[in-house]
Amino acid sequence: MVRVCCVCRKIERDGQWLGTAVYPGQKVSHAYCPACFDDLMDVVDRYALQEWSRSVYTVVEAVKAPGP
Ligand SMILES: [Zn+2]
Repeated sequence: MVRVCCVCRKIERDGQWLGTAVYPGQKVSHAYCPACFDDLMDVVDRYALQEWSRSVYTVVEAVKAPGP
């Protein structure tokens, strides 16, 4: 079983993420190489921050809004 990065298609061999060749018939498991995992975490962080600031903004707007 080889682990293949589902983003950049590098394959893991002996703990190293190198190359892109996958031999026919080889069982593959999709994963993220460290570089793509970091990129993914950046995206997740940015998205989480965006969602967080949006929810804070919504609360601030609700507090500022005049009551009934
Ligand atoms: Zn990758």
